Amino acid sequence: MDAQQESESKSAGHGHPLACPVCSAAAYAFDHPLSGRSLRAMANALGIEYLPSTALVQSIAKCEGCGLEFANPMRNPGEEFYVWLTTAKFPYPKHRWEWDEAARILEETSSGRSAVVLDAGSGEGRFLEAISTIPGVIAHGIDQNPDVVAASVARGLNVRHGDLSSFGLDGVSLDAVTFWHVVEHVDDPVGMLERARDCLSERGLIMFSVPITPMSYEHAWPDPFNMPPHHLTRWSVKSLQALAHRLDMHVSMVFPDASSVFARTLRSLVLQTSPSSASWSPAAKAVSLLRHLLANPSRLVSEVRRQARREKHNGKTLPDVVLVVLRKRS
Ligand SMILES: [Zn+2]
Repeated sequence: MDAQQESESKSAGHGHPLACPVCSAAAYAFDHPLSGRSLRAMANALGIEYLPSTALVQSIAKCEGCGLEFANPMRNPGEEFYVWLTTAKFPYPKHRWEWDEAARILEETSSGRSAVVLDAGSGEGRFLEAISTIPGVIAHGIDQNPDVVAASVARGLNVRHGDLSSFGLDGVSLDAVTFWHVVEHVDDPVGMLERARDCLSERGLIMFSVPITPMSYEHAWPDPFNMPPHHLTRWSVKSLQALAHRLDMHVSMVFPDASSVFARTLRSLVLQTSPSSASWSPAAKAVSLLRHLLANPSRLVSEVRRQARREKHNGKTLPDVVLVVLRKRS
């Protein structure tokens, strides 16, 4: 969200503050920028029919302490919504860079000793397969989608149906719990991570990945897939640090290299000059982009400037995603 959108949204803010679910500071709700259009925007991007019955979110709140943005109310849209996304063939990636990094960290941490790992939201089991070759690693998965659980079991993976609270964690000692793009979807991220923390062994760790908000193109297209009801929380470096503080854990963050200024500029301009519809071909998008740039050449300059100024962390431009590693304090 850019400064103008933010001030417009704040001016529509509601009077009474909410409590931030991470740091408990005051948070102010503003009308959901996409409001009832959020699901329609998803449907357009996927090229499918609009399903109106699951619109639940009234507003988005932003914490004045840690900057977390969260849905109001914090309520999971439920199975109907996710079945709809699955039917729409939402393009969940087949491979994530953070799996390689997490596997490297697990290998380093376990160094050949036995290590029990639980992947919560294990999906098709690709991460479990990737870590099953690490010496000593015993990999378990859990997922709420019975179809992917059945497919994982058929491939010989140790996966159960359910969520973390139904896994039977009492007395279990885990060396790692992982959540790949799960934290931003759940209505009680702190409670979920506290449960994970409480069943960690002494050297245990939690690893998860989330989008960094705002992503580099969200000023051009307020990505409905990074908005409620799909993502109930939107995280910044500061809110992730507040989360670690709340959990009383040590945090480190791993960032991939951000894409280049050129690539980010091109992506943002295409999103600004083409309706976010699955029906547009790449050629049609290119023609639309060129037409807009010929009419408004200053747009190119302002977009390059904006991307060159994108927020940095430790001297590196922030990418659109982060791997968070939480360790128990010794
Ligand atoms: Zn906060």
